[in-house]
Amino acid sequence: MRLPVPLAAEIAAARAAARLSRLAGTGGGTTVPGKLLWKLDPSAVDRLAARLPLGSALISATNGKTTTAAMAAAILERRVRLAHNRAGANLVSGVASALLDARNAQLGLFEVDEAALPEVAMRLRPRAICLGNLFRDQLDRYGELEHVAERWRTAVTALDDRAALVVNGDDPQVGELARAHSNAVVFGIDDPRQGRSSLQHAADSKYCVRCGTPYEYLTAYVGHLGDYRCPACGHARPALTVRATEIELHGLDAVAFTLALPDGDQRIRLAVPGLYNVYNALAAASLAHALGASAGEIVTGLTRFDAAFGRFERIAVGDRRLLMLLIKNPAGANEAVRTIVDGAAPRVAVIALNDAIADGRDVSWIWDVDFEPLIPGLQMLVATGDRAAELALRFKYGGLDAAAIDVVPDLKAALDRGLELTQADGELVLLPTYTAMLALRKIVAERGFVRPYWERAA
Ligand SMILES: [Zn+2]
Repeated sequence: MRLPVPLAAEIAAARAAARLSRLAGTGGGTTVPGKLLWKLDPSAVDRLAARLPLGSALISATNGKTTTAAMAAAILERRVRLAHNRAGANLVSGVASALLDARNAQLGLFEVDEAALPEVAMRLRPRAICLGNLFRDQLDRYGELEHVAERWRTAVTALDDRAALVVNGDDPQVGELARAHSNAVVFGIDDPRQGRSSLQHAADSKYCVRCGTPYEYLTAYVGHLGDYRCPACGHARPALTVRATEIELHGLDAVAFTLALPDGDQRIRLAVPGLYNVYNALAAASLAHALGASAGEIVTGLTRFDAAFGRFERIAVGDRRLLMLLIKNPAGANEAVRTIVDGAAPRVAVIALNDAIADGRDVSWIWDVDFEPLIPGLQMLVATGDRAAELALRFKYGGLDAAAIDVVPDLKAALDRGLELTQADGELVLLPTYTAMLALRKIVAERGFVRPYWERAA
């Protein structure tokens, strides 16, 4: 197909910018070309997306969207050629870059920032949207999560009737959106053995979306996600179309569950841990199913899936290993702590707290994290990052002996200190916030242990 000259010229200019950005080593050139295209002509994004023969699917959530998108890609990529923003570049400019990169793609599969979702949906007119959860996150950037929920509702209302809406029914605000669209798929966990009957204190959305009364939880699985019911007006979790049952947690290595699809049950074993990854897999499976993937393709894709960049990874460093889990808000950090303690509580941990914009400038969220399960087993905590001192204070208040806390603000020195405290063949647990994770990866990469991330992003 011959493109109108302006769009072709814009694409060429943006691709040239991508090459320059890669040469300059500024982070893989993941969003520079998209930003340029966006500046030249915002509607170019709409036209690029309209060229995808199978349309686009969008994935958004506060927690797990990168992993969900990677899981959905693992399922779908054997059937269709995807345009996929793998490196977490999830604003309009990142989507534009992925569209520029994907010359022969058939289907766009995009992870989208919660606040950017309405605009991306308006421009791409997707054939499916998958909404995972809304947790309180980086409030200084977005404001109240009710505001984001309201904007999601507007995006859902504007969806084409034929488009599929896939939502997590276990999240009250997200599940409620299923009632605003005729073609909705609702997923959730249905295994009370794995839950609690009350909410952890970090739970975010515990008041009825209709009348404001606190929900009663028959079961809470991760934060406020679970089987809820309002005792006043009866608002409750919607009926589930796709469910996870018979869950078996295998520590830090894996989780198995039965995926109950409308057309039958499949046993799944994921090579990543935790109930939150069951949610990610449910979201990916439900979306892929709505896009026409077979049960066999879903099983194969999820079974082959490996952790997405940065969210959970093991890196060999000489004769020791690093186990790195991103922490970025109370709910995600609670799950990281729970996952680690379910494996074997570590004796040494390096926790890195930065306060750059991407981490959230306000670090008071660490006081809402339930770090206490780590404390009994911990012989030494290395507190690091820009706000190492506040993190150390948090653990002191949690009951960790001051002598067991080493405050080392410099990340490189903290990593060395942690490795020195780890025995040969042992594993060092690292819990960094976002920019600390990027910096730690860079330090480790400079020592030749992992490649810079963009080399892995297709
Ligand atoms: Zn109510």
